[in-house]
Amino acid sequence: MCQQLPIDKIAVLSMYDMDGVTTVPVPGRRCPACLERGQTVWVIPGKCCPTCGTPVN
Ligand SMILES: [Zn+2]
Repeated sequence: MCQQLPIDKIAVLSMYDMDGVTTVPVPGRRCPACLERGQTVWVIPGKCCPTCGTPVN
């Protein structure tokens, strides 16, 4: 049995490395705390929101 996390959307995150900016499409979830404030912030499941620090699973 494999269980899948509900993924809202594929988010494109910008990753910074020495050569510049790389955009990587990853499965993302919207931060619920930021969503309440009217902001859409995409977070990789299991990471914390970069804006408010809320863990997103
Ligand atoms: Zn947030």
